[in-house]
Amino acid sequence: MSSLELSPQPQPNLRVGLGRVLIVEDEELIRETVALGLAEEGFDILIAEDGLKALDILGGTVAASRVSRPDISLVVLDLMLPGMNGLDLCRLLRHQGIDVPILILSAKGTETDRVVGLEIGADDYLTKPFGMRELVARCRALLRRQHHPVPVEKDNVLKFEDITLYPQECRVFLKDDEINLSPKEFRILELFMTQPRRVWSRDQIIDQVWGHDFMGDNKTVDVHIRWIREKLEEDPSHPTYLKTVRGFGYRLG
Ligand code: CA
Repeated sequence: MSSLELSPQPQPNLRVGLGRVLIVEDEELIRETVALGLAEEGFDILIAEDGLKALDILGGTVAASRVSRPDISLVVLDLMLPGMNGLDLCRLLRHQGIDVPILILSAKGTETDRVVGLEIGADDYLTKPFGMRELVARCRALLRRQHHPVPVEKDNVLKFEDITLYPQECRVFLKDDEINLSPKEFRILELFMTQPRRVWSRDQIIDQVWGHDFMGDNKTVDVHIRWIREKLEEDPSHPTYLKTVRGFGYRLG
């Protein structure tokens, strides 16, 4: 165990919002025991009595494309199920790109059973009979592993070679140096950086940056491109970023 895991973590109100667990189990007694045990620990519980029902809840399909699934944090999966067994369900979910953590809970406890379970994409394997505390601990561990940081909107940063552009901050960097662009220069560069190597005609650039009611000459674009080059290029008369495509317009890279 790493020192990170040993250090005390602030755990405010552990009993709320731990995650939603789908329990896939055909034996009622085990199902109810697991559901009760996990619910007492603060998990939200969903139940499926067989594999097909679980597949349905998780948004997988036997053949067609998947639909959206409810927000399931973890699946506790029995292997011997009527209809579709747990291994087939697990395999199918992974095949369809459904990457929810899966903990197999099975009476089949040989090493081979465990290895097969893990190899087809389960994240953990617990053999029946099991202790409720161990199940809870393993569920928690899986969710910790799964815990994503706050998602970063990838669209927030545009990168092309040494240029980095932050659309919402209206800032541009060449390596570590900030480049000061006018608002129009910034919009032009942003346009190029959304689709590197795409050729833009002067009229397209005007439409995108100035809008349809632009009254001036499309030579305006050339002037702005020159200004951007002077700020961005090592040798503005031999640009490596904003290149002229004769007869068409300009492109980045
Ligand atoms: Ca069973």
